[in-house]
Amino acid sequence: MRFGVLALQGDVREHAAAAAAAGAEPVLVRVAEDLDGLDALAIPGGESTTIGKLAERYGLVEPLRTAIESGLPTLGTCAGMIFLAAGTTEARPQVQLGVLDVVVRRNAFGSQVASFEADIDVVGIPDPVRAVFIRAPWIEKVGAGVEVLAEVEGHPVMVREGNIVATSFHPELTGDPRVHTLLLHMRGRA
Ligand code: GLN
Repeated sequence: MRFGVLALQGDVREHAAAAAAAGAEPVLVRVAEDLDGLDALAIPGGESTTIGKLAERYGLVEPLRTAIESGLPTLGTCAGMIFLAAGTTEARPQVQLGVLDVVVRRNAFGSQVASFEADIDVVGIPDPVRAVFIRAPWIEKVGAGVEVLAEVEGHPVMVREGNIVATSFHPELTGDPRVHTLLLHMRGRA
């Protein structure tokens, strides 16, 4: 199975390694054609404003929207979640795909020094998941079709809407491929 990793900015290598650990072939996505024939897609963390700008520059915004809306199982982590979302709590607009019906609060858990790790319960994964939060957003508002899969301090940090899974944290940094595996199991079932 081919697991695409959007390779514009952020922790691309770690997602490629997690995809491989989940048993898939990692495929770096830099141009629209790279989306052809994928079974799943990961959008890494990094800086969401930069990812948005680069996606626009490389003509990837519409192709990504089309691929995701037509059912490609897609995982967005941290900045990747922000990029997938419908909006942020900030006044300043940024490029977002708007395919995930949530509003996110960027850097909600504090600044870089406030980064932290926690073992969290995730709906659909039997044992706790070690979650690394780095300048992490939380989800401020969820739309009607969005299922909350995990929370920290009462704030949603992992959600699913149809073929899209988004995390505030970085499942690609812990050597535990279960979140990526979840995506591969969603294939053809969106
Ligand atoms: N704070 C970043 C943003 O708002 C996200 C941080 C991350 O992806 N680790 O885009």
